[in-house]
Amino acid sequence: MIFALVTYFLATGWLVTAIPGSTPVGRWVLAIILAGALFASVLLHELSHALVARTRRVEVDEIMLFIFGGVAKLKGEPRDALSDLLIAAAGPLLSTGLGLMLLAIAQSLPTGAPETLRAGLSWLGLINVALAVFNMVPGFPLDGGRILRAILWWRFDDYERATIGAARTGKVIAGLLMGIGFLLIAATGNFSWLWEILIGWFLWSAANHSVRMSRLRGAVEGVTVRDLITERVPAIRADHDVRVALAQASQMEPTSELAVVERDRTLVGVATVDALEEAALETPQRPARDLARPADDDQVLSPDVPANEMIARIARIESGLVLVVEDGRLIGTVDPKALLSALQKLEPPQRSGEEPR
Ligand SMILES: [Zn+2]
Repeated sequence: MIFALVTYFLATGWLVTAIPGSTPVGRWVLAIILAGALFASVLLHELSHALVARTRRVEVDEIMLFIFGGVAKLKGEPRDALSDLLIAAAGPLLSTGLGLMLLAIAQSLPTGAPETLRAGLSWLGLINVALAVFNMVPGFPLDGGRILRAILWWRFDDYERATIGAARTGKVIAGLLMGIGFLLIAATGNFSWLWEILIGWFLWSAANHSVRMSRLRGAVEGVTVRDLITERVPAIRADHDVRVALAQASQMEPTSELAVVERDRTLVGVATVDALEEAALETPQRPARDLARPADDDQVLSPDVPANEMIARIARIESGLVLVVEDGRLIGTVDPKALLSALQKLEPPQRSGEEPR
């Protein structure tokens, strides 16, 4: 969709004036190539964030491409302000460098070089510089806002406060963008400024989301899995046969997956109730051990895991069965209800409105 729009505007607008003698077919072909190159540039920008994150030992989840850029989603949080700064600065630096290099190549082409090449390189160079400039706007979650957060973090030594501060700046900038967009439409009657309102809106909601997530993280700070543990975990014995295991399971709260443990509570793995029921019909004498598969990495938590990390990991598992394991032994599970009530207790009293900082 965006790809088509970029191609369309290039072919019918910019390229018409940039290459006066060109044919429509030539313009469309070039427009498609350039739109592809633009996406490659955005991807490179995000990859540079991801690469620096990797070297600073922050895991990268995935890279998403958006309307006017992309987002490299980080799985963990940067450990220190310097990592935060380097990861954020990598993208704009790469885009600026790439843009300037393309512009320099376009400038240094010999006089006989095809005009198409020169125009294409110039456009790509300019758009990369523009990408860097836009991303340097100091509103979180744009790169500039992340850099601002890193500086605030370094200055005040408080990650949550820095995030909230940077996100506020982001909201102010988003508000300005939208306001100016509305004014321009009112003044000129030209609806192409809707883009600006759209981008402003996107920034606004992203900044809002960051503030909320930051509050949540702040609220569970210091809380670990141990505080949220409940001992009633749906577990069956590995040495019991399938039929007995099913009978045990029916005494517990309904669940789709069960932990399989040895007599001494050593975790063997997990088994689905479906698999047990099937086996109970066909081979009722088999030990439950045979049906266990290894538990997910994200499913097994040590009691010392912070609640933040727990929330992130639970979000990634499918079954929802969380196993708290200490020294190889299953000691309990985490009840989502316990987490919620712990959050309510810990949530700062001033939940809405802007508390002065
Ligand atoms: Zn970026």
